[in-house]
Amino acid sequence: MVQVVKTIAGLRPLRSKLREQKAKVTLVPTMGALHAGHLSLVQQAKKISDYVLVSIFVNPTQFGPDEDFQDYPRDLNRDLSLLEESGVGLVFIPEVAEIYPAGFQTYVAVEELSQKLCVISRPSHFRGVTTVVLKLFNIVQPESAAFGQKDAQQVVIIRRMLKDLNLDVELITCPIVREPDGLALSSRNRYLNEAERKAAIILYQCLQWAKQRVEQGEACSEGILQGIKGSIEREPLARLDYAEIVDAENLSGKALVEKNSLLALAVFIGKTRLIDNMVL
Ligand code: AMP
Repeated sequence: MVQVVKTIAGLRPLRSKLREQKAKVTLVPTMGALHAGHLSLVQQAKKISDYVLVSIFVNPTQFGPDEDFQDYPRDLNRDLSLLEESGVGLVFIPEVAEIYPAGFQTYVAVEELSQKLCVISRPSHFRGVTTVVLKLFNIVQPESAAFGQKDAQQVVIIRRMLKDLNLDVELITCPIVREPDGLALSSRNRYLNEAERKAAIILYQCLQWAKQRVEQGEACSEGILQGIKGSIEREPLARLDYAEIVDAENLSGKALVEKNSLLALAVFIGKTRLIDNMVL
């Protein structure tokens, strides 16, 4: 049976017991509405550790005032049965007040890296992400934590935070899990209606087209990005938020595509903003 813990105090004795047993704990932080992408993190975590702890917390501080915090899909019973089937030992499901009690006012921000890519439409998003991830690291004290490459900027930022704050947590990154037609799995895909769902494959089509161009010898980022902008303009349900080619390690812009260049995309499909990326 998967064990559910809702409080930090409730987690403490379990954490001590696991430490006594010298069990290697991997944390998988999620916002719930789980799908095969989340479960791939769990599977990877199981391979490298003795005990997998999944957190489910829709973190208000990473949502902007006009974003979907209230509407974000919540499906706890389904999540718990998926985690049970996946053999997860413990799920931490705190209330907002448990993580942000009255008077809370301490945030951590990875400054420069948070000012790139997604900053254009989510200016305080990563400050919320790093704050909650650091809190979860302090609460759970895992030996390692698993994150998806789907959120490539998040991975780069968390890696930087671990280094800058001397945190002793090993970062595990897992490849993007996709639908058969290439759409990256996301809890927000649930927002798409039938026509939007069809249009949403434009993200993967653009990534693939770009990869092909690079394989054919195209090295100019601008040419590739112009091609992508054109394709997205031609899709009536899509609106480009950003398309950038950056260094996968430090997110700085690349005029020429080189080894380890990352193409990162954010596209609105109707009202739903989707992100995707590929190393070219
Ligand atoms: P979320 O619940 O959206 O905050 O995601 C929790 C974790 O799952 C993050 O580390 C994400 O990068 C990861 N994740 C979400 N979607 C995918 C996917 N399609 N493939 C791989 N990992 C994913």
